[in-house]
Amino acid sequence: MTDCIFCRILRGEIPAQMVYDGPRAFAILDINPVSWGHTLVIPRDHFETWNELPADLAAELAKAAQVVARGVVKAAGAEGFNLLMNNHRCSGQAIAHAHFHVIPRKTGDEIKYQWKTKPYDPGVIEKVGSEVRAALMK
Ligand code: AMP
Ligand code: ZN
Repeated sequence: MTDCIFCRILRGEIPAQMVYDGPRAFAILDINPVSWGHTLVIPRDHFETWNELPADLAAELAKAAQVVARGVVKAAGAEGFNLLMNNHRCSGQAIAHAHFHVIPRKTGDEIKYQWKTKPYDPGVIEKVGSEVRAALMK
């Protein structure tokens, strides 16, 4: 049993707007939404990040995210959505129980990411590719 907010919501200790209640995952409205209908899709079992999830649970969570995203987009009358997960505090994860955000989007909604991107210097992308491939083989 953990003290995390999502586990407490599942136990009925904290109220939430449950919009999907499946056998291995559930979804609630975010109390501080980026846009109307912003929803969190959460595995019932407590795991901190995507990488800790057993593969079968990750697959079920992905399926639940698809079901929920379809419904949320319809309810919001949205044109699209962002599907994202923060993993670990450094990335912005505030609640240490893995969850997808489904954020309905419309053209011109003025919701902005703060990412700053820049291209690799010449020759660097090949080296990065080698290092990532090597890490994936370990
Ligand atoms: P993250 O930063 O990816 O861990 O996202 C956590 C999200 O949970 C934030 O968007 C919060 O607004 C949301 N949140 C925090 N407490 C609650 C709660 N009691 N019910 C619903 N959403 C919550
Ligand atoms: Zn939890």
